Amino acid sequence: MEKREVIVVGGGPAGSTTAAFLAQRGHDVVLLDKARFPREKACSEYASPSLINVLDRLGARAAYEQEGPVRIATTEIHSPQGRTIRIEFHDGDDRRPALTMSRSRLDPLLLDHARLCAVDVRENIRVQSVIRDGERAIGVALDQNRGEPSAIRARLVVGADGLHSVVSRDLGVRVSSVWPRRLGLVGHYDGVSGVRPDVCEMHISPWGYCGIAPLPGGMVSVGLALDTRRYRGRARTREGMFDEALRMFPTISCRLGSARRLRPVRGVGPMARRVSQVCGDGWALAGDAAGYTDPFTGEGIYRAVWSGELLAGVAASALAYGGTNRARLAPYAQARKAAFREKSLVVLLVQAFVSYPKLLEYGAAHGLSHPSVRRTLAGVLGDYEDPRRVLSPRYLRDLLQA
Ligand SMILES: Cc1cc2nc3c(=O)[nH]c(=O)nc-3n(C[C@H](O)[C@H](O)[C@H](O)COP(=O)(O)OP(=O)(O)OC[C@H]3O[C@@H](n4cnc5c(N)ncnc54)[C@H](O)[C@@H]3O)c2cc1C
Repeated sequence: MEKREVIVVGGGPAGSTTAAFLAQRGHDVVLLDKARFPREKACSEYASPSLINVLDRLGARAAYEQEGPVRIATTEIHSPQGRTIRIEFHDGDDRRPALTMSRSRLDPLLLDHARLCAVDVRENIRVQSVIRDGERAIGVALDQNRGEPSAIRARLVVGADGLHSVVSRDLGVRVSSVWPRRLGLVGHYDGVSGVRPDVCEMHISPWGYCGIAPLPGGMVSVGLALDTRRYRGRARTREGMFDEALRMFPTISCRLGSARRLRPVRGVGPMARRVSQVCGDGWALAGDAAGYTDPFTGEGIYRAVWSGELLAGVAASALAYGGTNRARLAPYAQARKAAFREKSLVVLLVQAFVSYPKLLEYGAAHGLSHPSVRRTLAGVLGDYEDPRRVLSPRYLRDLLQA
């Protein structure tokens, strides 16, 4: 059986980042993905301003800038009653734009960077299951493929295989999430009227929300997140569901009147997942595989790469000193908590406003009408301000003030 030091399952942002950071530290890493890149991925392709910081540390910033991401200076949240909340990304005089780039460009770029760092990237290989020796993960079994081995052994198995992770399923740590329960659908268009080149729009309705994000090359992503408690669609195809659901956002559907849909609609549900553990003996999870909430605030891509960076740091020292047992990998779980816990609470707070439009109307008419309240929120949502600022009693009082 083939033996490697680390197997990374999945070549999305989490997998390629984990693999590249580990290879940069001199580790022997094989990355396996069932897809051939470029592959399509259901995503509205809007990323937190702080994505650029991780790409910088990874050494992939120049290649990313060269691809020409769209810089989003403002996110506008539109309430059902027509109020607009403008979230502007700047830190003092510095602009800190959010970024958009098509996943069919971003993901291959990160995968190529992993190759440059000497990761052995193998596409079109599906991992079937995790091989275990008692509690310990010792490798993966592969779908039979021309000339490929049927299994690979390693000291560490990283599950970066997304929302429907085979690794987390096999390890028995997957837990379904109860709230918010949404179904996500994304269409790509050209010719959408009224799109501004540096503004992302989020339109909230009682059934969920619709996001519009300009992408490089004049393309626009239109994403729908539908609350499965309230939305009961009849259509059977994704395109049918998308068109049916869009009618509940009349101000958007009329702007799509003469637009052309460029790709098949993509989507998944439910848009939430939790796990009971993010690491154990011989294994660890990163990106969506390690848990995921509806990415209204651009959490998905940024969290995927950041979790990859955190995991690589801990895994590298575990591999170098003593081994990849649960105790050696535990600092990864602690690092995630320190990095994500408060921001996750802020995300839940935002989700409450999105899920209960009356609360949003109240906030828009009161606390969120104050520039300083919006500025702090922008910094926290953009990951360049400490999330505890939004959780402080003073801020919450200002947010809800009459
Ligand atoms: C509708 C929708 C809209 C979204 N919009 C946004 C947004 O605007 N902004 C944002 O930040 N996030 C968004 N997200 C979330 C974002 O797409 C994810 O958080 C992000 O892709 C996570 O990256 P990842 O690397 O963990 O997983 P993925 O990008 O899903 O990559 C996982 C990889 O694993 C591979 N894989 C899976 N199973 C196997 C297997 N058995 N064997 C081998 N390979 C396997 C897959 O082929 C895939 O390439 C959205 C999600 C949805 C569903």
